[in-house]
Amino acid sequence: MNPVGRSRCDPEPPLNITKDMITTLEIPPAVSRKQIVAGKRSAEKLLAPFDELAAASPNVVAKPVVEIDSRGQKYTLPRYLFLGPKGGGDIIRIGIFATIHGDEPEGALGLVRFVTALEKNPELAKGYALFIYPICNPTGFEDNTRHSHSGKDLNREFWVESPEPEVRALETEIWTHAFHGIITLHSDDTSGGLYGFVNGAVLSEHLLEPALQSAENFLPRNKRRTIDGFPARRGVLYSCYDGVLKSPAGLKQPPFEVTLETPQDAPLHLQVEALNAALQTILTEYRYLMAVAQNI
Ligand SMILES: [Zn+2]
Repeated sequence: MNPVGRSRCDPEPPLNITKDMITTLEIPPAVSRKQIVAGKRSAEKLLAPFDELAAASPNVVAKPVVEIDSRGQKYTLPRYLFLGPKGGGDIIRIGIFATIHGDEPEGALGLVRFVTALEKNPELAKGYALFIYPICNPTGFEDNTRHSHSGKDLNREFWVESPEPEVRALETEIWTHAFHGIITLHSDDTSGGLYGFVNGAVLSEHLLEPALQSAENFLPRNKRRTIDGFPARRGVLYSCYDGVLKSPAGLKQPPFEVTLETPQDAPLHLQVEALNAALQTILTEYRYLMAVAQNI
């Protein structure tokens, strides 16, 4: 029981609750994001589980990418590496990016859940080096805004010679590490269900489909024929906006690219579980597809 005498399972707050009280209460797991009182978000608090894992585990390394100066303050673009046990072949490098839209912390929380699960069972990441960027838009995250302090939607600025420091830093990461796969996480408050975009290597759709299937254990799929203005087939979209976070054009061997979208108005803990399930499935499926390809 919490201080106002309700069990954590009760879906509705008590009638006499005030906004001030909510900030001091533990958020019950079924609360939706919009019920959380707005205010400055703390990246430090959200990242604490990553930092604790990095301090305690040989599998997790904290390596922030860059410091960004904005409005007289310094912001870090956080990066964590998860190194799975050695597999049979070359190390597979995957970049996973969340919260490029500052008001979508669901992806970052999904990554906390995912990395915690990998730490408990590192075999899930066998053969992988995972480069994890949980907060790609640290100024927007702090203010709970889609755009960064500069007023830009950073997810329209990639590979157009943008001066935005977050975009430049992430482009350098994508370029330098030559990822085999790029996964981006978003949450969409206009969607009633899960969906995703595929890009890059042809096998991307063979990763997104099983990922959506395992995420469907927690939330429904958006089966509309048009999503976000794009034609969709069973929650899979094959085209997207220009300037989104992806690999540069013209690569000889483009990485697989999968963007996962959760319905933002759904209970937060279900979005977190759906993302965790989807990410684990992508690791398993990609390793399987690579093993099959090697046998051809
Ligand atoms: Zn988004």
